[in-house]
Parts: sequence; structure tokens; C-alpha cells
Amino acid sequence: MIQHHLDDDMLQQYAAGTLAEGWGVAVATHLALCPTCRSALSVLESVGGYFIDNETFDNTDVSKSWESLREKIDAGRIDKVVPIKKRLSSDRTYPEPLRTYIEAAGGLKWRQLGRGAAQMMIPTRDETTTVRLLKIPAGQPVPEHSHRGVELTLVLDGSFSDEVSTFARGDVEMADDSLMHQPKADADKDCICLAVTEAPLRFKSRFLRLIQPLLGI
Ligand SMILES: [Zn+2]
Repeated sequence: MIQHHLDDDMLQQYAAGTLAEGWGVAVATHLALCPTCRSALSVLESVGGYFIDNETFDNTDVSKSWESLREKIDAGRIDKVVPIKKRLSSDRTYPEPLRTYIEAAGGLKWRQLGRGAAQMMIPTRDETTTVRLLKIPAGQPVPEHSHRGVELTLVLDGSFSDEVSTFARGDVEMADDSLMHQPKADADKDCICLAVTEAPLRFKSRFLRLIQPLLGI
């Protein structure tokens, strides 16, 4: 049972088609695993369509409708489930569309990070994000990583816990640099996650690239 869902902003941007590809991969993969967010999306899409069709599109209106619809969904009064694409395979570790990305990269290729942890970069055409798979051995902390800006973690197998909660298959955690946490894979199983982060700024100047770590940007 998925406990931690996509935030509404991200789902709205996904529905509007304005979400960058890196985040989109994680959102679509969560949707493949999560009937709750699939019904939320279908409602959102029809609401968005309604406001656009009636030329009364207004962010506040949409948000208000969204809030009340979300309440109905949460209360179980709307439970229409719309399958995302046909190739949905929610019982495997890597659902679509993630699987296609992995296959395009030549299949699963883990690179060791030390202490049993491993990662695989997932190439996308989106330069504003970095997408990777992370494997954390059972009972081990997630390797130290500095991230500036937002990080989205979607659990695909096993589970991890931090000071906030426990996150199992399908759960999403959004973190930014204001959240101090030390996630640790739970003891019973290795934990595999999809992690999307904002890519560091890329400078054309070699000098700026060299001093970038010193500037912390
Ligand atoms: Zn969800």
C-alpha cells in the first residue's frame, strides 16, 4: 500500500505537459504503480480540459477545484482508475516507462559506489535534471551525497527509513536542502530507488567550471 504520493504541483505540471523529462520519468513510473495518483491525474486532466475549453482558465480556480476533488478522492468517493498506457506492468521491479529508459541505456549496468552501494545513470534528453537508479544494501545508510535543490526518490524495491517515515515500493519522497535526513535501507532487503535531482548548473567557461565547487553552485 503506497503511503507517500506525488505532490499536487508535480501532478498538475505533468497533466499540463510542462514537466521536464527527468521528473516526468519518475512521475510516470509512480503512476504505473499507484492507482490513487492515476485517478487523481484523470480528474485533473478533465478539470484542466474544462477550464481551458471554457476560456476561464485561472490558476486559483483550478487549485480550488483540485483541492476539493482531491478531498473526494482521498475520501474514496472517486475511484475511477485509468490505466496509463497499455504496457503497464506493476508487478515487476522496473515498470514502464522506466524500463524503456533502462533498455535504451543497454540494460541494467550497476556502477559500484563503495560499501555495497551502486548506481546507474539513466540518460534522458533533459539537461536540467539528473536521473539515476540507486541500490543500497540492506541495513546500510544511503551514500553521502550533497544535493542542492529538489530531490525526488521513488522506491522500486525494498524500503528505506529516515527521521520522517518509512518508504516502500511505490512511495515517493521529495526532499530539498532544508531537509536534514539520513535515510537507511531497511534490514530485510536491498533497496532500489529511482532518484531525480536538479542538475548542477553547467558553465561553458572552463575557469567557471573549475571554481564551481568552491562557489557551491
Ligand atoms: Zn500516488
